[in-house]
Amino acid sequence: MKRIVYPGTFDPIHNGHLDIARKAAELFDELILVLAVNQEKSPLFNDKERVDLIKESLLDVNNVRVDTFNGLVVDFVRSTESVAIIRGLRHVSDFEFEFQMAMMNFNLNPNVKSLFMMPDEKYIHLNSTVIKDVARLGGDISDYVPKCVQDALYKRYNV
Ligand code: ADP
Repeated sequence: MKRIVYPGTFDPIHNGHLDIARKAAELFDELILVLAVNQEKSPLFNDKERVDLIKESLLDVNNVRVDTFNGLVVDFVRSTESVAIIRGLRHVSDFEFEFQMAMMNFNLNPNVKSLFMMPDEKYIHLNSTVIKDVARLGGDISDYVPKCVQDALYKRYNV
């Protein structure tokens, strides 16, 4: 059983995240999307809302589960008997941060592998912050997020 963990804030999940998640679910027996609960970030959607949006967005994928975790991702990987962490890479600017994170995780637990995957070209420019800004101002975000996320954003911003 090869299980992989995809950690992130997912505030909210968008089509770039989903592209990585679907590809990882094809390559591994099981994918766990885990909301790394970070007290220093103040997300627009609370943990439960984000988990529910992820679940609804991936209803058609049957080897995925969604969880939240309050500690080190490497500890979550070990406790779920997963083999690796997967992260998305968009541009060179992601690389530096991801490289540092992967090295830190390697030092914390050398058994945990880090894998990186690029999304389809059409998702390269997507990030949750920009999508929230566009939604708040009433812009069309239907190409960037699933319907459930679009509805949740417009509702949250009273658009
Ligand atoms: P974090 O705060 O952990 O970076 P995010 O929810 O922003 O959380 O991102 C989670 C993961 O998804 C990261 O590996 C990030 O690089 C990746 N990611 C974010 N946006 C995209 C995108 N448009 N395409 C592919 N991967 C992405």
